[in-house]
Amino acid sequence: MLQQADALEDIYLKVLSGETPDRDDIVFMYEGADLNSLGEVARSLAGKISGRYVSFVSNMILNYTNICNVRCNFCAFYRTGSEPDSYTLTKEQVVEKISQYYNNFGIRQLLIQGGVNPSLPLSYYTDLFSLIHEKFPDLGIHGLSTSEISFISRKEHISISETISLLAESGLESIPGAGAEIFSADVRKILGRPLNSGDDWLKVMEEAHKLGVRSSATMMFGHVEEAYHKADHLLSLVRLQKKYNGFMSFTPWNFEPGNTELQKKGLVQYRAGGAEVLRNIAISRIVLNNAIPVVQSSWLTNGMQMGQMAVLFGANDWGGTIYDEKVIPATGKQVGNLRKELIVNSLSQIGMYPVERDNLYRVVKYYSQ
Ligand code: SF4
Repeated sequence: MLQQADALEDIYLKVLSGETPDRDDIVFMYEGADLNSLGEVARSLAGKISGRYVSFVSNMILNYTNICNVRCNFCAFYRTGSEPDSYTLTKEQVVEKISQYYNNFGIRQLLIQGGVNPSLPLSYYTDLFSLIHEKFPDLGIHGLSTSEISFISRKEHISISETISLLAESGLESIPGAGAEIFSADVRKILGRPLNSGDDWLKVMEEAHKLGVRSSATMMFGHVEEAYHKADHLLSLVRLQKKYNGFMSFTPWNFEPGNTELQKKGLVQYRAGGAEVLRNIAISRIVLNNAIPVVQSSWLTNGMQMGQMAVLFGANDWGGTIYDEKVIPATGKQVGNLRKELIVNSLSQIGMYPVERDNLYRVVKYYSQ
């Protein structure tokens, strides 16, 4: 026990001196460190970055199409296009959906995610983004995944860089970190993703960051990965961040096995438990520290109470209100339309100071403390 405490103390001192923990340090934190001690270290580091302030954004998710030709084993959302419930929204339907939330809830971020739909050309996206930008000027478009961007560039025979430039010119403000999962090819093989798609994710993000288009980063845990896969994943993010400082935030989220191929094949029966979730939050904070100063609570997959615990274990951003999300409900888990007031209340209950932010993490409003 004493050795464990000493090892964690060494890692803490290393981080305080500006160093990033190495692969062995991270594997130790996953496999040998005491959870409560990890939480204390992580919360202390979060406090040095943002004190008791914890941000959140009023946002909605636009799942514009569920047709996808990637067909990941862990996804319950996608359709091939022939099913009666497959869909692609028109520009008019998108405007109508956003209108429901824009004025009523003052949303500042539109998170756009869908499948990799082979029938959609670049112009579908550029027309859509221009229209959204024109009709809802306060809304930051946080859109598409690296898979969607790669597919559009191949379909249009233009480079990734040119694709991102054209999307940004039409109104794309930043890129979500979806699709990162675990970068390692042996894990991606089991998840049913192309083997090189982890490297592709990093390359697309690097091109975006070079152009000044910022993004989020994620990691999906609680499936078939080992501790060293997560260590390598986090360290890859730190390496890229040191080049362009393009990541605005990091969200570790736990795999939801319901209705997925991985569950049907018996590879993952149950979701990761609360202790595992908190361990991942705490380790993310410790490893990323000032390199990616914002770690999100991942409340969407874990609920409000776990969101509170995540903040106590080192998260300093709640995430969004996430109106109209469709991907998680496809696994059979209901999340409801959480309102701002509930987030403010959840943060106040644990002694934190809620701050509403916009898509680029600029303060919109401080709430009373
Ligand atoms: S996770 Fe994304 S890329 Fe994979 S099947 Fe689902 S919608 Fe398609």
